Amino acid sequence: MRIADRWFETKRIDDRITLLWEPHVSRLDQCNMWHIRGRDADLLVDAGMGISSLKDAMAKLLDKPLIAVATHSHTDHVGSLHEFDQRLVHPLEAEQLNQPDEFPVLCSCHWPKGLRESIERQGYEVPDILIDAYPYEGFDPLAFRTQKTEPTRLIDEGDVLDLGNCAFEVLHLPGHSPGSIGLWEQSTGTLFSGDAIYDGPLLDDIEGADKCAYATTMERLRQLPVCVVHGGHDPSFGKQRLHTLIDQYLSSQ
Ligand SMILES: [Zn+2]
Repeated sequence: MRIADRWFETKRIDDRITLLWEPHVSRLDQCNMWHIRGRDADLLVDAGMGISSLKDAMAKLLDKPLIAVATHSHTDHVGSLHEFDQRLVHPLEAEQLNQPDEFPVLCSCHWPKGLRESIERQGYEVPDILIDAYPYEGFDPLAFRTQKTEPTRLIDEGDVLDLGNCAFEVLHLPGHSPGSIGLWEQSTGTLFSGDAIYDGPLLDDIEGADKCAYATTMERLRQLPVCVVHGGHDPSFGKQRLHTLIDQYLSSQ
């Protein structure tokens, strides 16, 4: 397999938000990582696969304290979380952070029985190997495991992450996973939604998922005066698309 020129891609969304992603990771595990610049501190929403150092890739962006938040503890969102000093997650996700999957997450032939088929039924193509390049010579996808870590702070519904000139409220949005959270900025109508909602196949038939809780989360999201949603995967979208995605999900139940 070829060696990637660089592991992360970066896109400036506006004067304070930067999107990072891993283009060589298969869509299923290609997570959006959001860097939000604040006055006193910056925020990082999700931390990718951990295949290559996110902290190194972000070096130019890091000029003040960084609050790294995992919207939930799935492999594709927490891989590089251990690299950061401040690691925030919901209490219901903390244990999983410390006990990542023991199977080779990058090699679907070695996943637990039935997992690949289940993910495919839910709308994803699952290749044998979930990357199309190596980050460096000698990288071994079969040996790769997510690095375990401990949260430094637990966050739950109603907590506020204050960056000095702006603030994000924690919304507990269970369904995809028990402790899935979103970060909501009321003043701009901006929602970082993690995997609670994004513009792609939503996963509600995986370990830890709860379809009933998911439906309640969808109803809640419908009430938010949203301007823009930056999801855990796929492109960002506005209120109208949010409502369409919610309706699609609820009518498929
Ligand atoms: Zn997830």
